[in-house]
Amino acid sequence: MRIRYHHPIPNFYKIDNPINPLTTISDDLLNDLNELISNQGFAGVSYSKLCGDFKKEWGIDWDNILILKYVMSEDILTMEPSREKTILEDKEFQEMGQKSFVIADFLRENNFKADLIHPLDDKVSLRAIAMQSNDCIITRSNMCMFKEALNMGFFMIKTSISNLPFKKENDMLWVEDFCSTCGVCIDRCPENAFDSNGNFQRKLCTAHKEGCSKCVLMCPFFKRGYDKVKKRYGRKQKKL
Ligand code: SF4
Ligand code: SF4
Repeated sequence: MRIRYHHPIPNFYKIDNPINPLTTISDDLLNDLNELISNQGFAGVSYSKLCGDFKKEWGIDWDNILILKYVMSEDILTMEPSREKTILEDKEFQEMGQKSFVIADFLRENNFKADLIHPLDDKVSLRAIAMQSNDCIITRSNMCMFKEALNMGFFMIKTSISNLPFKKENDMLWVEDFCSTCGVCIDRCPENAFDSNGNFQRKLCTAHKEGCSKCVLMCPFFKRGYDKVKKRYGRKQKKL
């Protein structure tokens, strides 16, 4: 039986949005925010500033996005696809989702507007928003990879804070070239979820239905980590 394992996350807000939200955060408060994010078990935070064209394309009026990133448990990831695995993955997703409301409440308490973007909302691609952060890359196996880890999940909060440390350039674009010469995920995919040109075929992938994560486990970025793969890639490029 095929199932979509993530269930909607209920609202856990304890504080309402301010009537007149602030738009500028101080360095001290940003530090406090980062500390809270870390204390809640997130691996880090990225920031997306959505430009006019992007908002028009997706029909949204959001400007500033916090991306709360968590590393998906390796114990779960290494399990064979099964109903039990999908239940555990959803449990982890629910727990981290609940913690995202603590972050939103902290911001509301400090007079910023903060709303969780519903993770299952098909209105807008969260990956597209993530790419606007210039802090991640979509791998050939369709993972949204940040430098901290390949196996990352994330939640997003739209906020009135307009002076977040947004990145202007993406220094992870080299991964596209690396993927074009690797192809391990294509070779090892049990569902043949790639077309003859090596393009990922979402409909054939069973990651979000049965919990397949074979390509993640085989990927050099998972096995060695981002920095080591980048170093090796750099050395190879120098030799060419
Ligand atoms: S296995 Fe290779 S091609 Fe596939 S995502 Fe990882 S690095 Fe890219
Ligand atoms: S998650 Fe599984 S089915 Fe999907 S692309 Fe990776 S190996 Fe193939």
